[in-house]
Amino acid sequence: MSIDPRRLLGLAFASADLLVELQNGRVRLALGAAQKVMGQSEAGLTGKVWPHLFHADDQPLMDAMLNCADDGVRRGPVVLRLGGPGNRHVRVILRALPENDGRVSLAVTAAQSAGPPLTAGTLHPRESFDDIAKGLFEAARVTGLELELAMVEFAGLETMRGGLTPGEAAALDLRVASAVRAESHGGSAATQLSPDRFALLRTRDDRPDNMIKRLTRMVSAEARAHIVPLEAGGGSARALRALRYALDDFLREGLKDMPPMTLSEAMNRSVKRTLARAGALGVAVSQRRFNLAYQPVVSLATGQAHHHEVLVRFEDGGSPFALIRMAEEFDLIEELDHAIVEQAVKKLANDQDRKLKLAVNVSGRTIVNETFVDHIGRLLSKHDEAKGRLIFEVTETAAIDDLPRANRHIQSLRSLGSMVCLDDFGAGSSSFAYLQQLSLDIVKIDGRYVRELADNGRDGALVRRLVELCQDLKIRTVAEMVETVEVADIVRAAGVDFAQGWLYGKPADRPSPPLRPAPAIAAVARRAGASESWG
Ligand code: C2E
Ligand code: CA
Ligand code: CA
Repeated sequence: MSIDPRRLLGLAFASADLLVELQNGRVRLALGAAQKVMGQSEAGLTGKVWPHLFHADDQPLMDAMLNCADDGVRRGPVVLRLGGPGNRHVRVILRALPENDGRVSLAVTAAQSAGPPLTAGTLHPRESFDDIAKGLFEAARVTGLELELAMVEFAGLETMRGGLTPGEAAALDLRVASAVRAESHGGSAATQLSPDRFALLRTRDDRPDNMIKRLTRMVSAEARAHIVPLEAGGGSARALRALRYALDDFLREGLKDMPPMTLSEAMNRSVKRTLARAGALGVAVSQRRFNLAYQPVVSLATGQAHHHEVLVRFEDGGSPFALIRMAEEFDLIEELDHAIVEQAVKKLANDQDRKLKLAVNVSGRTIVNETFVDHIGRLLSKHDEAKGRLIFEVTETAAIDDLPRANRHIQSLRSLGSMVCLDDFGAGSSSFAYLQQLSLDIVKIDGRYVRELADNGRDGALVRRLVELCQDLKIRTVAEMVETVEVADIVRAAGVDFAQGWLYGKPADRPSPPLRPAPAIAAVARRAGASESWG
């Protein structure tokens, strides 16, 4: 059967706005919405050197895509920034048929940028790789896209780098980063694990061998890969999150061993260890095998405890931070948060003089769930004496993905008589969005802005601005990690209402009154200098 070429074109345009054919890197033919997609007409594009049409930082990526196109494998999609004004992006899929005398076909579509721009020769740092992976996993779940995680290692890359001049080493790193990006889905889902190891997410329709061959050729060092398939089928969002967690473990622990293990051994061990830990955590949560610690939060005006924060302690007694993260990844956090609130309410109910107030931490994952508010409503109707004495700190360890919904739940908690505090303000990138979209009683300024205030003559201008902002919004503020009198003085002068930290007491197994900090030597000296004011 012969097919009318126009029908073939129709089919091709179904998945692209613009079709381009290159020969030896130059545009031979451009068909379609060239002006709209590339900002130049079909005729204007013809004859141009294709990679030069892109932003200088993305040209090496385009070069890398073209460089190994001759194996006939479809490559991309990769999202690239165009050169020129307007910060425009396009999505490119590329294929060179073998025996095609250097001709490459491209399908090009206008696109949104997939994240923060990368400069030439760089890869996303671990944290943004995490975000990109999360986005891709979500997309994969919706579209049925089959992804795999590839851990890639170049044998002897570090040694090779050592023998080069700085200029040559930079050129090598540029080649490596571009080659790795070109293998990743979208062109940016890649990160560097160590000087010669990388992780990237790619689609499963191309055989890993092809990728290994291309990488070896591009980098001139033998590439090896360990592939972890990611099942995106129904109900496995949790499995994907578990895998991210294992990846985290791998990044933290997998590369420390001497002698180094192979990537496969290290990754397998991380997966095993993750599953074992998650199992143990699940048991600890369901059997309520944890204790609570209490740390005073004092009023800076009076030095008296305003309330105590409840902090969970598992069997090892240390910081629960890692286990809380794990509980979030494995969908155990809601049960844990419920269990902790139950115990806190019991503690309030047993408190004879009813002066105790307790703040419990609630994960961003829990607060978006209806069941949490229902649970609190039921608890408080059973223990009327706890009403008004239970405070919630919404923590940002897991990002809140639905702010309007979170806000509805926060307002329900407030209508039950509880104050709600936004925890760790300034620690994440979305703090200001949270402040804008959530109606709150208290904001807790993250410890990183507080702890070192007195060092390097920092005077707390940032904290002062934040307090002004909160005062405008009628929100009270807490400074956490106040460890010294100097810092306490600075935050008090900045107008902060409450403080928490080792200066007033470490987390302890029962709520105790705050310590009364002795004035610091510096503060004493300062005051002694103005001794007349002591009368
Ligand atoms: P967070 O809510 O910001 O809690 C404050 C952390 O800082 C606590 O660590 C506390 O022990 C520590 N800290 C308090 N004062 C000072 C100080 O002056 N200096 C220093 N260096 N540290 C201080 P912890 O108990 O390890 O908790 C870590 C995080 O784990 C918490 O951060 C919170 O995000 C999470 N978390 C703890 N307990 C719970 C819980 O019951 N439920 C949930 N969902 N998360 C919890
Ligand atoms: Ca907290
Ligand atoms: Ca904090």
